[in-house]
Amino acid sequence: MLIAILGVAGSVVVSAGNARQRLASSESENQTDAIRIAETLGLSLLHEDDLVASAQSFELDNPGATQARFAQWAASVDVMARYPELFGIGALQIVPRSDLGRFAARYPIPWMVNSGSANAIVPYPAGIRPYYCLPTMMLMRDASLHLPRGLDICKVIPGVKLQGTKFSGLPSLAPAQFLGATLLSISVPLYRGGEVPPTIAARKAAFEGFMGVLFNTSVDIKSALAGYPDTEVALQHSASGSLVQFRGGSPPANAYVSTENLHNGWTVKISAPSVSNGVLDDKGALAVLLGGSVLSLLLAGILFILGTGRARAVRLVNERTAELRFLALHDPLTGQPNRTLILDRATLMLARARRHQVPTALLFLDLDDFKIINDTLGHRAGDQILVAVAARLAAEVREEDTVGRLGGDEFVLLVEGDSLQGGAQRVAERILAALRPPFVIADSDQPLTVSASIGIAEGDRGTAEELLRDADTALYRAKAHGKRCAIAFDQTMQVAAEDQRALAADLGRAQEAGQFFLVYQPTIDLQSSAMTGVEALLRWQHPERGVVEPNDFIPELESSGLIIPVGTWVLNAACRQGAQWQAAGHQLSVSVNVSILQLARLEFVREVEEALSLSGFDPSSLTLEFTETTLMRNGTETIAQLQALKTLGVRLAVDDFGTGYSSLAYLRQFPMDIVKIDRAFVSGLTNSTEAAALVHALVQLGKALNLQTVAEGIEDDDQRLRLQIEDVDIGQGYLFSKPLDLVDVEAFFAQYSQTSGLPI
Ligand code: C2E
Ligand code: MG
Ligand code: MG
Repeated sequence: MLIAILGVAGSVVVSAGNARQRLASSESENQTDAIRIAETLGLSLLHEDDLVASAQSFELDNPGATQARFAQWAASVDVMARYPELFGIGALQIVPRSDLGRFAARYPIPWMVNSGSANAIVPYPAGIRPYYCLPTMMLMRDASLHLPRGLDICKVIPGVKLQGTKFSGLPSLAPAQFLGATLLSISVPLYRGGEVPPTIAARKAAFEGFMGVLFNTSVDIKSALAGYPDTEVALQHSASGSLVQFRGGSPPANAYVSTENLHNGWTVKISAPSVSNGVLDDKGALAVLLGGSVLSLLLAGILFILGTGRARAVRLVNERTAELRFLALHDPLTGQPNRTLILDRATLMLARARRHQVPTALLFLDLDDFKIINDTLGHRAGDQILVAVAARLAAEVREEDTVGRLGGDEFVLLVEGDSLQGGAQRVAERILAALRPPFVIADSDQPLTVSASIGIAEGDRGTAEELLRDADTALYRAKAHGKRCAIAFDQTMQVAAEDQRALAADLGRAQEAGQFFLVYQPTIDLQSSAMTGVEALLRWQHPERGVVEPNDFIPELESSGLIIPVGTWVLNAACRQGAQWQAAGHQLSVSVNVSILQLARLEFVREVEEALSLSGFDPSSLTLEFTETTLMRNGTETIAQLQALKTLGVRLAVDDFGTGYSSLAYLRQFPMDIVKIDRAFVSGLTNSTEAAALVHALVQLGKALNLQTVAEGIEDDDQRLRLQIEDVDIGQGYLFSKPLDLVDVEAFFAQYSQTSGLPI
């Protein structure tokens, strides 16, 4: 705005200045022009004076000269060409009336038309006067102008002050109206002897006549004004006492008037066109005004755009910076603090703990089997779960506490002070409970069950990183402990954790090295006590550590994806073994645990088919076990895969049933044959009425769905009895047998058939 205002104001000032300057320069131009015009006129007048003087001297040199002689003189000085303003030139004599006859005899002027007789002059205009002004010789520019003989010039040319001139001795100037033109008449007295007598009396005595010249001043003015349009000139002679004035040219609308003194009695008034000092009248100034205004408005506009653009840019940069700062410190998916901010806050938390002796804890939470969710449902679903989990975690802690996402499915909670009143373990339990209800997300048509493991690190540490590392170690232990639990760090874990990491590294080479083998845990018909089959369970023969349990390496196999080739190996090995047993006459089923990662692959059905055909194992004797939690994760696709498997003739079991909080409605959708009630319910049967009620409900559910029910982890007879009463079909557990290697399981077969007498 300021620039626009200043710009326009500046344009006004500059254009006004321009206008003034133009006016000034125009004035000075006008002045110069006026001087030039005046000079030209002055020269013309001087020139005319010259002619008058020249004619005067001719007359004086040739007293009584005739018209012919005068014409000769005029031709010799080329008067008509040299004096274009010359209208006529001639000599006059004042002829008293008494001398008319004598005059007529002396000047028989041929060009004069005499209306009277040749030797007599009849003065014209008629009238009797004491004297007459009669020409003695005359030259007119227009040769056709024949003055009548006897023309009394003093009578026809008004204003000729002959008398005064006669006695003053000076030339007389007068305007003369002649033949329709206003002419300048200059009359010069002629005295005998040529000299102007000094006294009036002497001048009267010596006076002979006049030399008269008529000038057409308009010619002078016209030539003086050549190149000066719209300029008017008023030529004025006042020195002689009479005012002689001539005008010429055309008056301008806006006149700049200057009067020049020509110093010979003449003044010239010149009216030249003037430049208005109004800005609007001055094209240049107007251009400056408009151009300047437009330019400054444009400039202001550009600056405004640039200015607001810059302001906008600055605002955007600020916003962007704030955004970037936020992004630098927050997880873009959940909006929670990221690793950097978590560590920063953890550092502050430790400092506060040291200063104020407040309890502090870092909870390191990792979702169980998150890779499975991601791989089976897709990353979008995985992201939705992460967002939902973050929200639940945030809802479980106080505002002052921090919930952050380290990356992947890892979350960290920083809790301190009052939040830890019941201890860190209590907080962790609350969080695990909060995650228990299934998650409903857009990308899954079924609610998803998600569990997590938590590692807890409490108390002071040198750095935040150390605190985080210890919580991570505890987390590792929690995972190994069967997941879905929270374990607090203690110093002995440090070694164990490092152990685990080393183990994970060894796992990569295990399959190649043939370190995997299967053990078999028999399953018993609870009603008949007959052995129905075995569950094949994976073991890892570690070269240094001995046999490693699945809980210590299956999670690692799943997170590394190695579960797929290893799972295929298990499937083939189990089918081969089953076929061999069948060939040996044992009618038993073989159960194989299948990871959801295997099931998610379309090739899996073909692989099962291949395992069956390669081994020749009866498909109906093969049971594929899928844990409930993983089954629930990808409804439609899982169902399709399961149905494809069903067409092969195999049987399908829901493993660890009851832990996934599945409802009857969901389970109904899956083409399952067997439901395996989780060990957790079985172990609680005898001392928890709640567990007993749950087992009852689960069994009824299984029956309602027309499923065979299997109870896992039967360790004592009491449990077996209760399950028998609940009408559970099959039992599996240490009561009957631990998982056994090939030799032992075959020995078990033999022993079992002998002791129970039941066929296997
Ligand atoms: P699972 O399929 O539920 O297998 C039963 C687990 O319960 C076995 O543990 C078995 O040893 C244990 N168990 C059986 N009866 C009792 C009992 O009376 N008391 C107690 N405390 N435990 C009992 P294991 O062999 O350690 O296997 C653990 C889990 O590892 C299995 O649970 C299964 O989910 C997984 N797993 C084992 N082998 C494989 C495999 O080849 N593939 C896949 N994907 N998972 C496997
Ligand atoms: Mg199983
Ligand atoms: Mg199980």
